[in-house]
Amino acid sequence: MRLNKINNISILENCFGCGVCSSACPHDVIKIIENKKGFYTPLIVDKNKCVNCGICLSVCSFYSNIECNNSNYESYASWSNNSEIRHNASSGGIAYELALSAIKNGYKFCGVKYNINTHRAEHYICSTEEKLKFSLGSKYIPSYTESAFKQINFKDKYIVFGTPCQIASLRLWLQKKKKENNFILVDFFCHGVPSLKMWDKYIIENDIKENKKIVDIKWRDKKTGWHDSWRIVATDNENQEIYRSKEVNDDLFYKYFLGHYALSNCCIESCKFKQNNSMADIRIGDLWGDEYKNEEKGVSGLICYTENGQKLISSLNNTLLIIHSNEIVTQGQMKNNAKKPRGYKLVDFLLKIKPLKLSNILTIKEYIILCIDLPKIIINKLKRILL
Ligand SMILES: Cc1cc2nc3c(=O)[nH]c(=O)nc-3n(C[C@H](O)[C@H](O)[C@H](O)COP(=O)(O)OP(=O)(O)OC[C@H]3O[C@@H](n4cnc5c(N)ncnc54)[C@H](O)[C@@H]3O)c2cc1C
Repeated sequence: MRLNKINNISILENCFGCGVCSSACPHDVIKIIENKKGFYTPLIVDKNKCVNCGICLSVCSFYSNIECNNSNYESYASWSNNSEIRHNASSGGIAYELALSAIKNGYKFCGVKYNINTHRAEHYICSTEEKLKFSLGSKYIPSYTESAFKQINFKDKYIVFGTPCQIASLRLWLQKKKKENNFILVDFFCHGVPSLKMWDKYIIENDIKENKKIVDIKWRDKKTGWHDSWRIVATDNENQEIYRSKEVNDDLFYKYFLGHYALSNCCIESCKFKQNNSMADIRIGDLWGDEYKNEEKGVSGLICYTENGQKLISSLNNTLLIIHSNEIVTQGQMKNNAKKPRGYKLVDFLLKIKPLKLSNILTIKEYIILCIDLPKIIINKLKRILL
């Protein structure tokens, strides 16, 4: 009897969840689902229909050996001269200006908005300025790409924004389809994505999830300046604040996200995209660092890797661009993958327990204090006494 060797994404574990395999599958047998840990993952829904063609693996940036170490690039500081756009964006609003310029040049935009009904971030496609505004501001949770990527019509031109792993898989797919020329791909310096289970707990415990008055959520808010913009703010339809998170060090979401407690395992163990490792035409990010340390309205870093990207940058209107060395533009970025902090497994375990049940017993904050902070304090005290 001849055994068929499995040649599809079911051989992978803990992949990036970028969703490109599902759109590239010619037999439509892959669906993207949310796994128990709160990350997107592909699932072969009909094993009998899968012909083991291996296309899903060939477009997978998690599985493939990819060359993405760029050595030729132009680096800039940048921001939008439109003060409303700059204020509402995470850093300088460069993503919006790049997208707007592309739309004016006949491209469609594919990027991320927040769906207030499902409380999920999702990719969407649009070609008007009005709808582009939904993409303003980073949503620091994994985005669901399947539905938007499946709508891509290869006869049209697109500018696509996404995490470096989403963009790398998309590039592999476009190379396969010989459609790269119709696309401009933009990624960003990526800290990693945190679990949706953690996000769910956060919005439940802060009475955000069931509050029907809330129409928008922002992860960054510049009311007290860009350097202090790590605030989650939920607003109603008159833009009145219904929820504002505490200072970054006291906020549970940012503690878990920036402290790497709830980052996906693959962000920690398998990210291939730190520094200038990118398969995008353009990479953007927050320009932290000394050069703009007094600038409180937000500054974006912008790095161009390809001619395609340079063409778009040359067409930018209403945008300030200042050339700098790559060192200045990337100052403050993570140079290596995040490391698992102590307590990572505990948080992973707690996130599997049903949110309300957990809230009824102890909030995550109390667990962290009890299981991580308190032992740390006791150990430090003992060390001081004994040494
Ligand atoms: C999960 C995540 C981690 C990040 N980590 C870093 C980091 O470590 N260092 C750094 O400098 N910058 C990071 N960024 C990027 C940063 O938040 C800004 O997007 C960047 O500074 C560009 O600024 P802006 O003002 O133009 O962007 P914004 O107004 O924030 O526009 C962001 C663009 O990114 C897209 N986007 C929003 N949310 C998501 C999402 N969940 N998944 C995919 N695409 C999305 C939108 O379509 C939009 O076009 C991260 C972003 C995300 C979503």
